[in-house]
Amino acid sequence: MILTDTHTHLYSEAFDDDQKEMMQRAIDAGVDRFFVPAIDSTYTSSMLQLKKDFPSKVHLMAGLHPTHVKENFKKELAHVKSLLEKKSMVAVGEIGVDLYWEQKYFSQQLEAFETQIYWSLEHNLPIVIHCRDAFDEVFEVLENFRGKSVSGIFHCFTGTLEHAKLAVNLNLKLGIGGVVTFKNGKIDQFLDQINIENIVLETDAPYLAPVPYRGKRNESSYLLKIAEKVAQIYSMSLEEVAQITTDNSRNIFGV
Ligand SMILES: [Zn+2]
Repeated sequence: MILTDTHTHLYSEAFDDDQKEMMQRAIDAGVDRFFVPAIDSTYTSSMLQLKKDFPSKVHLMAGLHPTHVKENFKKELAHVKSLLEKKSMVAVGEIGVDLYWEQKYFSQQLEAFETQIYWSLEHNLPIVIHCRDAFDEVFEVLENFRGKSVSGIFHCFTGTLEHAKLAVNLNLKLGIGGVVTFKNGKIDQFLDQINIENIVLETDAPYLAPVPYRGKRNESSYLLKIAEKVAQIYSMSLEEVAQITTDNSRNIFGV
């Protein structure tokens, strides 16, 4: 059984003390593919080191996270651009709009989001979208790119069934994480109405740990808990869910 964590911040400071052990626990749990989204340039060297340590298991993305869009965002975007030009990145992410933490840089967030979608098209790469309290804003941007072969993942999907259908209709897969195990997470109520070909699994470690670890530090080995819950929702075996969602991730990232 091969599980694929399509969104894990393995380089986070939260793993400074036990990164090797954390990776081993994930591998022991059956997680063999790790897709690592970027946040900003401060993490690039730790990400590249991870790729060196686990060349066949770890796959990196380049991108400027919306909550890190600040005064210096043009400089950060230039860094993203230079990483993409090296041709070793598997996606542009995570990118998008976040109006939960801060609204001050809304227009800059939009500009950064659009610019990075253009680059994904230029490099023929999928995008990984971060969207918090900004469904309308994100869909408005995506609508402008309809028909332009944008593809990718709507990461940490927590919207409604209508949002889910809109995302699928725009050629995006839904990234399903710890929220699916929460009692009040809501998405478990309708997920079975979305074809499983349209979902991928993710932890978003170190954030959003699934039940029974809710509130604690999350790590990629907990992907198993998310896969178990998804298997229950779709009335499938764990092995089937692992196989299908891993195949889905292959279709998106091409690795
Ligand atoms: Zn993330």
